[in-house]
Amino acid sequence: MLGKFGPVLPNLGNMRSACGLAGVPPRGTVARMLAFSEYQQRAFGTAVYPGRGEGNFTYPALGLAGETGEVCEKLKKAVRDDGGIVTPDRKALLAKELGDVLWYVAALSTELGLSMEEVAAGNLAKLASRKERGVIHGNGDER
Ligand SMILES: [Mg+2]
Repeated sequence: MLGKFGPVLPNLGNMRSACGLAGVPPRGTVARMLAFSEYQQRAFGTAVYPGRGEGNFTYPALGLAGETGEVCEKLKKAVRDDGGIVTPDRKALLAKELGDVLWYVAALSTELGLSMEEVAAGNLAKLASRKERGVIHGNGDER
């Protein structure tokens, strides 16, 4: 959630409840990565577009850009109409758009022959390394 002065950390207890995970103990990183694999597989089962599953990265890449724009559009309207506060109604809309972004990340990963598990784990490893080396801030993909 975005407050007037920046991000407000979500209540993960509520998020786990919304995902049907209430009462289930939080799992380690490896277990969560397995969830990414299942999501990717199930999401791709709903994919319908030309060249699906044939390495067609163009369609999901364009969709990813479009859905990312939809997220930004809703945040822009929070700034324009609500003084930068994300209302509960807008938060619900943002959750749907972020889900759309996730779906296209999954589809693009599949078309590129990447597992979301690998993508997520690689990202965490990269960021952990940067943090450890004190280079989180700065420029360059290969820091
Ligand atoms: Mg959308």
